[in-house]
Formats: sequence, structure tokens, C-alpha cells
Amino acid sequence: MELNTIGVIGAGIMGSGIGQVSAAAGYEVVVQDIYAEALDKAKASMEKSLGKLVSKEKMTESDMNATLARIRFTADLEEACKEADLIIEAVFENLELKHEMFKKFENSCKAEAILGSNTSALPITEIASVTNRGDKIVGIHFMNPVPIMKGVEIIRGQLTSDKTMETTLAYIKKLGKEPMVAVDYAGFIVSRLLDVLFNETIKLIEEGNMPEDIDKAMELCAGHPMGPCRLLDLVGAEIALHGMEMMERDFGDRYKPHPLLKKRVLAGLLGQKTGHGFYEYK
Ligand code: NAD
Repeated sequence: MELNTIGVIGAGIMGSGIGQVSAAAGYEVVVQDIYAEALDKAKASMEKSLGKLVSKEKMTESDMNATLARIRFTADLEEACKEADLIIEAVFENLELKHEMFKKFENSCKAEAILGSNTSALPITEIASVTNRGDKIVGIHFMNPVPIMKGVEIIRGQLTSDKTMETTLAYIKKLGKEPMVAVDYAGFIVSRLLDVLFNETIKLIEEGNMPEDIDKAMELCAGHPMGPCRLLDLVGAEIALHGMEMMERDFGDRYKPHPLLKKRVLAGLLGQKTGHGFYEYK
């Protein structure tokens, strides 16, 4: 199936990155959010990110302008849905909200449209369960920051069709990224493994270790490109917490979030998003 227009729902960190890379690959893109400020911020972040590519001579100025010209921003969900051949939902990580969104997609999108979710951990079959389009629903888990990270997890729900998988895998390749297919259980591959590391990191902090030492240890002793405190600040503590709660529900105590993680989320220490995490950000 040929994809021309990508509808990105939710213009936060992930939605803006997904919109940007899709437009850069030649797709028409409509980015939707309920908040006007989120749309303004997404536009500014795309301009900044593409501007950096131009200054590093990885993109020409005319390609940047053509990319930006392919992106429309709207607060109107119907408008984002009606022309989209592929929807990628990137709203807050909350199952009830995702259910609400997918019911709306079912009413507003073309019958043949593929409906993707960028969820980090919610099972795709569970998201799809509120619709009658299970064959068209797929997990498309981009990593943060989207323009830089090459890997994308593709999650096949119980009813996802071969055609939906083929089209989605081709879309990811056209973005110049590498897809890998994950089985549909909470957390898939990436969050299943990363959230164990994050929870253990919180325990180390509670025991008195310093974020700088934890990060240095994993970077210099284990060869990780980025230590877990900095990575958790990048991902967002609330996203890791939701993921752990979902995996605790499905796999039991080994994913029980440490109480300090909950406390840090309640205190707004989400990381780069709020400017405060293990480190401070401008
Ligand atoms: P974010 O908080 O930066 O952005 C979410 C956006 O959704 C906000 O702009 C918000 O206004 C918008 N939104 C909320 N309700 C909406 C609605 N009803 N209609 C339209 N827009 C709505 O979050 P994020 O970090 O971009 O995460 C988005 C999704 O991507 C989540 O499911 C998350 O688990 C997943 N994800 C996040 C990361 C990460 O590192 N942050 C990585 C991979 C996947």
C-alpha cells in the first residue's frame, strides 16, 4: 500500500521528531495536538533540528525548506485524520487516553488507513481492542531523539495483518531507519530491558550513589553510550513509571516501580521535559 500522508497525533517530544523525519523522507505530514503551545513548540523544535543538519552540511537549505513546507500543524483531529494513510499516535502514555484516541481514529480515518501507536510499553492488542480494525493497528516505537536514533521497534498485535506489517516496515526503511519486530507483550523488547535498568538505578540513588558516578560507571565500565541517569532524564521519568506499572500488572513484582521513582514523578523531576531530573537542563 502506498503511503502519501502521515498524521501525527500529539506534538510532544516524540510527535515532533516523527513529523520531522517523515517530512524529510518526502511524506506530506499533518501534526495535531490539543494545545496550541505544543504545536508552536513542535514547529520551533523541528526548525532548530533541521537547521542543525543544514549547518553540519547534512542537508541543503532548500531541502530543509521543502521539508518544512510538507508539514501542517492543526488542533483539529478530524483534519489530521481525514487524509492520513498512516496515523502515528504519540499522546501521553495512558491506556484510557489511547483508547479514546483510537476510537476517534476509527470514526475519522479512511477505512484503509493504518493506525500506529508510538507507545513505549502498552500492549498493542490491548490498544486495538476498542476498535474493529485490529488488522490495521500496529506498534511503531520510535526512540528518542527520533531524528538521531536509527532503530524502531515494530510491534505486531494479535490481529495485525501481513499487509499492515509490510507497509509499516517499508515506511520505516524509507525514513532511513532500521526496524525490528517485537512480540506484543507489555514493554516489547526495549522497555522490558531498559526499565529493569532504570528501576535498579533508582535503588542505587536511594542507597546514596551519585548520578554522575552511576553514569560514568556504565559508560566507562560497561560501554553504554549514555549512562542510565542521563538516559532516564531523556526518556522522562513518568514514561518509565507508566511502563513499569504496566509490566508489573502483566509480569508481577519484578517490575514493581521503586517508591522513589513515584515520588520523583510527583515532584515533577521528569528530566529534560521539565528541566529538572538527575541533572538540570535549561
Ligand atoms: P510528551 O508529553 O512530550 O507529548 C505528548 C503530547 O500529547 C503533548 O504535546 C500533549 O499536548 C499531547 N496530547 C495529550 N492529549 C492529547 C489529545 N487528546 N489529543 C492530541 N494531543 C494530545 O510525550 P512524549 O515523550 O512525546 O511521549 C509520547 C508517546 O511516545 C508516549 O506514548 C510515550 O510512551 C512514547 N515514547 C516516548 C519516548 C520518550 O523517550 N519520551 C520514547 C519512545 C516512545
